[in-house]
Amino acid sequence: MAQGARPVEEPLVRRTIEIHSPATGARVAEYPVADREAVATAVARAREAQARWAALDFAARARVLRRVRDAFVDGKERIADVVSAETGKPRHDVFTNELFIVCDGIGFWSRRASRYLADEKARPHLMKSKRAYTSYHPHGVIGIIGPWNFPFSLTIGEAIPALMAGNAVVLKPSEVTPGSARVGCELAEAAGLPAGLLQTVFGYGDTGQHLIELADMICFTGSVETGRKVAARCGQLLKPTTLELGGKDPMIVLGDANLERAANACVYGGLVNAGQVCTSVERVYVEAPVYDDFVQKVVDKVKRVRQGPPEAGPVEVGSMTFPPQIEKVERHVQDAVARGARVLAGGKRRPDLPGLFFEPTVLVDVTHDMDIMRDETFGPVIPIMRVRDEEEAIRLANDSRYGLDASVWTRDSARGARIARRIQSGAVCVNDVMVNFAVTEVPMGGIKESGVGHRHGPDGIRKYCVKQAVVIDRFGMNSEINWWPITPGKVRLFRRALDLFGSGWRRKFLGAPAPRERAAPQP
Ligand code: NAD
Repeated sequence: MAQGARPVEEPLVRRTIEIHSPATGARVAEYPVADREAVATAVARAREAQARWAALDFAARARVLRRVRDAFVDGKERIADVVSAETGKPRHDVFTNELFIVCDGIGFWSRRASRYLADEKARPHLMKSKRAYTSYHPHGVIGIIGPWNFPFSLTIGEAIPALMAGNAVVLKPSEVTPGSARVGCELAEAAGLPAGLLQTVFGYGDTGQHLIELADMICFTGSVETGRKVAARCGQLLKPTTLELGGKDPMIVLGDANLERAANACVYGGLVNAGQVCTSVERVYVEAPVYDDFVQKVVDKVKRVRQGPPEAGPVEVGSMTFPPQIEKVERHVQDAVARGARVLAGGKRRPDLPGLFFEPTVLVDVTHDMDIMRDETFGPVIPIMRVRDEEEAIRLANDSRYGLDASVWTRDSARGARIARRIQSGAVCVNDVMVNFAVTEVPMGGIKESGVGHRHGPDGIRKYCVKQAVVIDRFGMNSEINWWPITPGKVRLFRRALDLFGSGWRRKFLGAPAPRERAAPQP
């Protein structure tokens, strides 16, 4: 057996996963844990289904996926029930940030797949006697390993371009939120998606490792720490992977910004999904002249935010989802306060609610050595820092191991665009937050420790494909100049051809030494 193909050791056996609502504590459901054999069975089924699916053209695949979209729309209340119950997020968040995104994605990829995956002609600069093009072919079975914060859109939604490209998909949702992917698979299959083409396997990290071993390509979304493990295993197996990881997104508010819009965006961007978004506003830098006004506006607005369980009627912020996450948020806030930060709103767990509710929080007097400004908090906390000027804001924004998203606020959009070029992150919004995720035409992905690869844009579907170069000879001559036998004439010809690259050619035709010759150090 080749090195790297060693079966993953079985860790402690957990036969089922029991899910409780993070908002109320009520028992929600129980799911069986997939061992290696179960994952292998799912992948084998997926392979069979994929062979038939790949034979369909784009239009036929799109027709099926549009029926799936209809089923999601018809099943929206059922989807909201499941997603809300296991995440604690308000139902309207499920409609907007999960279902809407997925339904729009189905339309987008159905229309764009044929264009993004069409053969791309190349014009050989040298080999004029050849025709050349790049073609895209499905990998086969894609393993999608997802996180708990958007358990429907980051599993089912990620699968849509993979399916449009002609792959089958096996989802390994987070053990914290397994039901969301499953309800999506069930509705899709009932709507006519061929059986086996989109499946879910439940489990912890070891189930994810089995999937890495057995699938042909891995699309991972999750934390930096797990991303490293996934990358290491994929590296051993030489398996293609994309990694969508954590963030610590900066927001830069300049003196000429529309403060009302910036403050609204800060509150939404910092608190939506209880701050558990990879592109949450995680740290805010405000130019000194507008700092006080901006902070006041944000604090006033945060105090008006309504928080409660999904069934509490219209609330903006629900519960957090994962018990260790609320502990991390508490640690970050307590560490900041211990080092001199002041709490202007919130600051602690909700004592009146049984679930994982952390109050929407605003911190000031924070410094860059605090965890709250350096490590991903992933909770409803907005730390705000006063900066001298634009330069200091850019320096601090870039002083991070992450590089996922960022926002710049100024009435001068040319200035905003100029600053965007200097921010080290995979995406930058000017006078907006998070919105790049919904602009599916452009790539979304992290730099630095925030990830490798992209979703959306042409790469968002090409990543699910093997890229193949095809070169076709046009003239059918009996031999080529570089083929054998080697003759003195051919050797002379190639010598002369080489001279064309070098200084001889320049001296002869331009009468000047080549730049390389001029720069060469003297012996
Ligand atoms: P996580 O890394 O704990 O888990 C993600 C998935 O990996 C889960 O399904 C988990 O079971 C699986 N897993 C765990 N160990 C594994 C292993 N050894 N091998 C294979 N799979 C393994 O992440 P999480 O806590 O579920 O999600 C939150 C994180 O995800 C945050 O850091 C957030 O920023 C990030 N995230 C990033 C994006 C993005 O697009 N960049 C989007 C959403 C969330």
